[in-house]
Amino acid sequence: MRYNNKYKPEISLDRMAGLYCDEDLYSLMRRAEQIQGSISDNANAPAVSQGATRLHLEKVILAKPRGFCAGVERAIEVVELALQRLAGPIYVRKEIVHNPHVVNALRAKGTVFVEELDEVPQGAVTIFSAHGISPAVRDQAKARNLQVIDASCPLVTKVHVEARRYASEGYAILLVGHQGHDEVLGTTGEAPEAIQLVQTVDDAKQVQVANPDKVAVITQTTLSVDDTKAIVEVLKRRYPKLVMPPKDDICYATQNRQNAVKAIAQEVEVVLVIGAKNSSNSIRLTEVAEDAGRRAYLINDASEINPAWFGGVRSVGVTSGASAPEHLVQEVVETLKRLGATQVEEWELVREDVSFGLPAELIQASP
Ligand code: SF4
Repeated sequence: MRYNNKYKPEISLDRMAGLYCDEDLYSLMRRAEQIQGSISDNANAPAVSQGATRLHLEKVILAKPRGFCAGVERAIEVVELALQRLAGPIYVRKEIVHNPHVVNALRAKGTVFVEELDEVPQGAVTIFSAHGISPAVRDQAKARNLQVIDASCPLVTKVHVEARRYASEGYAILLVGHQGHDEVLGTTGEAPEAIQLVQTVDDAKQVQVANPDKVAVITQTTLSVDDTKAIVEVLKRRYPKLVMPPKDDICYATQNRQNAVKAIAQEVEVVLVIGAKNSSNSIRLTEVAEDAGRRAYLINDASEINPAWFGGVRSVGVTSGASAPEHLVQEVVETLKRLGATQVEEWELVREDVSFGLPAELIQASP
């Protein structure tokens, strides 16, 4: 996995949002400068504050689609409705979606988040997160007599169904994904004896199967479209009879957000991706922007913006991962305006109108 510490903000500016009087900004700039070296200057451009004639931000381009996908919207709605309609407490196994702002907001409303089901009292209402679960977790829930509501994204469930089908037909299954990700753990659990994880092109070159004529490939839904393509091409060369699902497993939301960030990256000098550090699709968005030749930063929210990133920069692109709420984007835009940006444009690449129905357990619990 290419994600590493470089996406951590060099300076954490906890007080960033709402604090940019000239004095604050100037001292932040000075601090950034001391740590990172001099920022380039442009005497002709409008400056952001009295002494700090260093930032010359002009334009912000917002990528669209960005932010919540249909699977995330559904998962959050499931928790909200469970809180309203069912006798609590309501437990959620793992983060409902990979975003601390979402998790904290639901926690504040009374949701109890746990890592594993042995932390849930017998018989309690328990929601499974959007990333899906393995049959072993389902069995554990049954053994504890839990009242389960499954908020797994239907597109993840589709991959689980593919895994089960290929395993029952005797295929060796190569799962393109990242070790330890909740979705990969859940999918692998569907057929652990048949599935091998392939994380890189090198893995694809080295993986071994018992019968090269009977190999199938499935993928984690939130990978980079381009990275997956390279891995699958190697597998196709090695296993000419490689079987693939009729439709790519990379989900529509992942694909659309990557296409959108690729488009704005052509027009801007720096890209900000709003998303959690453990959000696979957000990390991929950062990589897509970098592959397009741009400096890109993955930030949780506006408080992590470092003004030193924008020395000599006039245009900044902004996008957000599939589990990042829109208010975080708007707060980032406000911060960029305080840093001098005067134009905000939105580039809509494709209109999304996907939505998923609620789980039956919740519909039956209608008041
Ligand atoms: Fe579902 Fe795609 Fe959203 Fe993941 S990113 S929850 S697979 S719609």
